[in-house]
Amino acid sequence: MTLFDKLTQERRLRLTAERRLDFCQRERDAAMALIDALRAEMTQLRQHGRSSALDQALHAAALENVQLRAREETENAQRSATQAERRLWDSINTIRDGFAVFNARQELVIANQAYLNVFSGIPEAQIGVTYRRLVEILAHEERVVLGDEPRDAWIDAMVARWDDARIEPMTLCFSRGDTARIHDRRARGGDIVSLVRDITEQQRHAAEMEVARDRAEAANRAKSAFLANMSHEIRTPMNGVVGMAELLCDSALSAEQRLYADTIRSSGEALLTIINDVLDYSKIEADKLTLHPEPFDLERCIHEVLILLQAGARNRRIELLLDYDLMLPRRFMADPGRMRQVMTNLAGNAVKFTEAGHVLIRVTGGEAAPDHQTITVTIEDTGIGIPPENAKQIFSEFAQVDDQSSRKFEGTGLGLAIAQRLIALMGGEIWLDSEPGRGSCFGFSLSLPRAEGEAPVALPPDLSHVVVVDAQPMNRAILERQLARLGLDVTLCDNAEGALKTLEVLRGQGVDLVLVDADLDGQSGLDLTLRLRAAGPDTPVVLLSANPAALRGHPALTEARAVLQKPLLRHDLLQQLSGLSQPDPGPPEQQPAPSAPVPEASGSGDGGRRMRILAAEDNKTNRLVFSKMVEALAIELTFAEDGEQAVAAFRETKPDLVFMDISMPGMDGRTATREIRQIPGGAQVPIIALTAHAMAGDEEDILAAGLDHVLTKPLKKPLLLDVIARYRPEGTCAPLPGPSVASSHDAG
Ligand code: ADP
Repeated sequence: MTLFDKLTQERRLRLTAERRLDFCQRERDAAMALIDALRAEMTQLRQHGRSSALDQALHAAALENVQLRAREETENAQRSATQAERRLWDSINTIRDGFAVFNARQELVIANQAYLNVFSGIPEAQIGVTYRRLVEILAHEERVVLGDEPRDAWIDAMVARWDDARIEPMTLCFSRGDTARIHDRRARGGDIVSLVRDITEQQRHAAEMEVARDRAEAANRAKSAFLANMSHEIRTPMNGVVGMAELLCDSALSAEQRLYADTIRSSGEALLTIINDVLDYSKIEADKLTLHPEPFDLERCIHEVLILLQAGARNRRIELLLDYDLMLPRRFMADPGRMRQVMTNLAGNAVKFTEAGHVLIRVTGGEAAPDHQTITVTIEDTGIGIPPENAKQIFSEFAQVDDQSSRKFEGTGLGLAIAQRLIALMGGEIWLDSEPGRGSCFGFSLSLPRAEGEAPVALPPDLSHVVVVDAQPMNRAILERQLARLGLDVTLCDNAEGALKTLEVLRGQGVDLVLVDADLDGQSGLDLTLRLRAAGPDTPVVLLSANPAALRGHPALTEARAVLQKPLLRHDLLQQLSGLSQPDPGPPEQQPAPSAPVPEASGSGDGGRRMRILAAEDNKTNRLVFSKMVEALAIELTFAEDGEQAVAAFRETKPDLVFMDISMPGMDGRTATREIRQIPGGAQVPIIALTAHAMAGDEEDILAAGLDHVLTKPLKKPLLLDVIARYRPEGTCAPLPGPSVASSHDAG
């Protein structure tokens, strides 16, 4: 072997040895790593074994703690429960009401002292006793007052009560003197909880209250009767005072005497307003005021109010105007008395607080439902107005604008409060717009059911042109609008000269009617009528006047087709227009009231005889007032002083119209009316009640007694004449001398 070989071999061996060493080293490293891992694992295992022991120890300690706490809490809870139970029992035992619980077998499980007291002295009545037994003890030991009820029946009924699904409460009277209300309720698990409420005090209070209420009601009835009687007693002599003063004013007086008479009249009327306001207000306050709706004519109601206000308005040169929408129905269902009252207050205030200018009542509306109509009524004046700071409160009780300009007027400050309540009662609302110094406008709106009985008025088809002569711009505007709505051409003139010129210009163009206001500035409407006639053309002329009676005897009346009362009733205007195709009925004096109802019994047809009127009135002054008011009429008047005389006079004179005082000694007005209704001819004769009773409901009572119409005292001449004209039968002469068509009426 060469050295090289030896060296090579040795090198190979060395390399092999080195490789083996390297391998062994890696083997050793791996083994070391394994040992380290095992060691770590061992350490971990060892550590774990130690901590679980600790945990167990800790857990055991915590458990012990919890148990300790739980025991404490249980003990506390038990203590609280015992305390609560004791308190509950103490409370249940202190209440005066009995309290008991029965289980599903109806055995007593809990009962307080008050419950057991009823059974005192009966050892059996304790926890465990059955409900039936307790009921038996109550009955047999006479612990309850049974009255006439047999004992066994009562026991059975008491036991049967508990069979009902809902056990009704009942009242028990105990023989020891107290009374209880028993309430039994089903509870969980078939239990029944029974509460026995002591209502002795309550019943005593209720009995006392009932006695007190009876006394209060009796006092209230006495007060109402007193008020009604006082109202009647005051109104009867006031009828004399106001009526006589009114007649005095109509006679020839010096300026000073007129002032005195006028003061007596207006003070009397103010006193009556106050009485009425106070009466009404006390009724509203007591919620006693109820409405009595019936068919009524709204336009006529407003017209009547305006007629009454006219005398006062005329003295101050205030024009009263009514603008009732031509397309609006006039018959509605509402309480006529209350509606008149609202209108009287609002229109009366408007006249009272206006020195000059006009008071305009405007009625508009629209259909609210097929049979209902909304109506809006505004009452506008040109008076002193109401400052904004007062306007807010004006509908409150006793609210009056307390400045110099308004305090010279009398009043209670209740009128608007009453009007507002009445409108609210009718389901409407009331408001005010006002400008101090320029005027006020009160308004109210309502929805009212329409009433039957309104016949449409047909106009002649060839009617086309109307000339209106009126100095008042507002009047001209109203007439223009109303006539234009009927499809007519309207020419307006504000004075007689202008009218003559206009008619001259229009000659040959077919003017169908001239409406002339009698009170024109400069030349009067009456003179204009005469001049128109003298000028030739025979165009019909209808005069309008706020005071037709004042035209009495003027030659122009024979030339006019009719005289219509201002404010103009739409119905009157329509009737005049519709009658244009018929020949002129002659001078107004000889015309019958256009559509006065004709009582069947009285139409004798003897042409122009005087109307026979019977008036039953026990009070001498009132007879005098009545006779003076109708003094100027062409009628035959008979008086009766009580009901019996009235019946006898009816048989004897067969009157066309009867005025019947309601309160008369002996036979009163209601009875006399019933008797007259039995006499041949008496069923149809119109009987008008005269009454000083002005309380709500009085009118309904009177109408229910068979009378046709009610006039309240003090009597008002315009209304009295109005009624006479309305009920004048055919075949009698017009009772009013001078123009008779003061206002026309239909049966409504
Ligand atoms: P009375 O008129 O009896 O005082 P009201 O309740 O009818 O009571 O009216 C209350 C007040 O409202 C009146 O006192 C007056 O100050 C004011 N008032 C009512 N209507 C008008 C009106 N049209 N113009 C001016 N003031 C009015």
